[in-house]
Formats: sequence, C-alpha cells, structure tokens
Amino acid sequence: FRTQVGVVGAGPAGLVLALLLQQAGISCIVLERHTREYVETRARAGFLEHRIVEFLRRNGFAKGLDLHGVQHTTCEFRLEGRQYIVPYGEMSGCAHTVYPQQFVVSDLIELFMTRGGTILFSHPVVKIEGLKDDKAVIHCQSQSLLEHSAAEKQVECDFVAGCDGFHGITRASIPSDHFSTVTRQYGIGWLALLAEVPASTERVIYALHESGFAGQMPRTPQVTRYYLECSPLDKQSDWPEERIWSELRKRMAVDGQGDDEQIPGKIIERRVLEMRSVVTETMQYGKLFLAGDAAHIITPVGAKGMNLAIADSEFLAEAFITYYREGDGTQLSKYTEMRLPHVWQTIEFSDWMLRLIHNLDESGNRTFSDRLRRARLERLCGQGDYAQSFAVNYVGK
Ligand code: FAD
Repeated sequence: FRTQVGVVGAGPAGLVLALLLQQAGISCIVLERHTREYVETRARAGFLEHRIVEFLRRNGFAKGLDLHGVQHTTCEFRLEGRQYIVPYGEMSGCAHTVYPQQFVVSDLIELFMTRGGTILFSHPVVKIEGLKDDKAVIHCQSQSLLEHSAAEKQVECDFVAGCDGFHGITRASIPSDHFSTVTRQYGIGWLALLAEVPASTERVIYALHESGFAGQMPRTPQVTRYYLECSPLDKQSDWPEERIWSELRKRMAVDGQGDDEQIPGKIIERRVLEMRSVVTETMQYGKLFLAGDAAHIITPVGAKGMNLAIADSEFLAEAFITYYREGDGTQLSKYTEMRLPHVWQTIEFSDWMLRLIHNLDESGNRTFSDRLRRARLERLCGQGDYAQSFAVNYVGK
C-alpha cells in the first residue's frame, strides 16, 4: 500500500483525522488492531463538549448525535444529603451532548467507509520505520480469520498519524531521548460501572462523601455509568453487586428521600481505573504526529479525554491540509508547540475538579482539604465569576 497519511488507530482521534483528510482530497489509510465489531461496541466516554459538537456539525459528522444525542445543561453536587445544582448551561449559553463514544465511533466509521475510505480492521501495527527518512513505512499484520497465519503488510506514507491510544505502538517508536513524560498519579481509583438501569435524574451527579466520591452519568435511557471512588489496588472481585449498590445508595443519599433512589440493575461492565494524567511532551518526531490518548491521558474527571482527542485531530488535519495545498509545513512543525498549552489547560481543569470531588489529602490534613472543597462548592453555587468560569470550562465553550 502507498498513501499520503497512514493513520494508526480507529478511535475518535484517528477517525476524525481520516475524515477531514478524505474531505480535503488527501489520501489516507486507517490501520486498526481490533475488529470493527469490537471498536463499535467499546463503551467509554459519553459527554461531548459544546465546541466539539459544533465542530462535528460544521463538518457534517454529527447526523447521529443530532438525532439521538441528549443535551445536558445542569449538573448536581451532593454533600451530606444536600443538593447543589449548577445550571452551567444557563451560565455559559451552551450545552453538553450525551452520546456514547461507541456510537460516535460507529457513525464516523460508516461515513468514512461510505465515502470510499479504507480501514484495515484486525491489522495491528507492529513496527514503524523511516520516521526521519523521505518515506515512513508502517508494518502491520493481517489477522483475518480467513487467513491461517498472520501475514505482514506494509504501508508506505509521507506521514504517520499516531492515534493508537495510550498503549499503542506509535509513541514507543519515538527514541526515548527525544521526549519526556510528565505524570501525576493521584493514589485514587474509580470503580467504573455500566449498568442496565435508567439514571435516577437526567443530570450528572457528583456526590462528595466521607467514604469517597460517587458519580452518576446518564448514557442512554436504559444504560447509566456509575463511578465509586476506591483504592487503585482494588480488584473487580472486591466489589460484588450488593456492595456496589449499597455504596451508591449511601454516598448519593439525599435528605428526606430515603435511600432507595438507586434501583439495582444488571451491571454490564465493571473495572478499576487509576486516577492519573500523563502528558508526552513532544507530540511529534520526524514524520510522526501523535493525537489523542497516544500523546496524553487525562483523568476521567470533567469528561475531557475524547474531546481533547478530537481537538488534536482537528488541528493536525488543518496542518496537513496547509502542507499539501500550500506546501507550507510551518503549522506541522509547530504542532506540539500549539497543542500542548491546550492539553495543559484541560488537565488543569480536570485537576481542579478532581480536588473538588475528592478529599485529596496531600498535606496530611484531611480536615483542611475537606474544608477547602466545601468552600469551593459554596463559591460554585454562588453563580459569580467563579461559577461562570467553571461553566465555560466544563461545557467546553
Ligand atoms: P482510543 O479511543 O483509545 O483509540 C485508539 C485506537 O487505536 C483503538 O481502537 C485501538 O484498538 C487502536 N490501536 C492501539 N494499538 C494499535 C496498534 N498497534 N495497531 C493498530 N491499532 C491500534 N472522555 C471524554 O471526553 N468524556 C467522557 O465522558 C469520558 N469517559 C471515559 C470513561 C472511561 C471508563 C474511560 C476508560 C475513558 C473515558 N474517556 C472520556 C476518555 C476517552 O474514552 C478517551 O480519551 C478516548 O477514547 C481517546 O480517543 P483516541 O482516539 O485518542 O484513543
């Protein structure tokens, strides 16, 4: 195969980039390790920022989310039975759209392939060569069920877009002395759950409790995502269903409403996530450009990861288009310099919000950190500049 841009990974970053390149008449091939069915059913994110929805609409990628997405304009914090409702939509004039990531991915795949795009599913990339030469070569394996052994294929390209997530191969293809990684591990885990149960309210709930944070995020009318703060070392087996529902009831209880607000339903996914953010402080090397989780991961607090991945691809596509149309590689050469400030601003917001909803006790004084987060919550509900700033950052205006 020969193409202009070889895209590794068919997640939100890779697919948005591929569609934008395709629209601009730049050839690209997407290589994806998993099957189409797998990537189209992998449930993860669900909250799309206002500016990302506008971007997807402007480019004609939003048909599915306009039909089935649900707009959210308020969120709720709970503390000791009290409810603090923040009308961030009213304050910012914008809304989130809730549309599960697997539907976003599925819509983008459908659109790209209907327009003649090539995605090689079940083709894990195993090696990348020539990142400093005229041509880069991507080596992948074909793992089709019809083929008895994995056959190796090569894709020659002008550029490689590394959109293969945090555990992919592209970042690992950069020599270690050409980048540094900045990491924060918070020492907190979240038990991330998906349950077949309608959400108890239409808005997101962040419950601050002495036993730890609990969250409820609607996904579809039948499926809800829940989070429970836990030790990052916990195993799924530490959390039998009975314990899950009992902790959710306790941590999310509201005064005068009893504790039966959470109706137990079938848990369809359960895994422990470690709260951490990691930034690779170069997003490019020779002919390779990283986008999305391949370059940075961010804690799920504030629901920013997929949005940041799409924003990287928007910028990267513009840089490729300028290069191919005008022969001007300045934007490409400044990709890292232009994107990293946005990445850090997003991480700063997520870090601030993480300290609001957890009692993060870095100074060894839990009472002090608890009082600070209560003060933050009061200011947030005051609807002044502080709340306004939260609203704009949270909704992604
Ligand atoms: P990915 O979605 O990880 O896609 C990378 C692709 O590359 C995958 O399909 C993978 O199979 C493929 N790949 C990997 N290695 C290879 C290889 N060697 N060869 C070929 N292909 C390869 N974000 C939000 O914005 N809002 C939320 O509400 C939110 N909630 C989340 C909840 C959970 C439980 C989790 C885990 C994440 C959440 N996120 C959220 C984060 C979000 O899901 C990610 O940031 C997003 O998926 C990043 O997109 P991406 O395209 O960069 O990477």
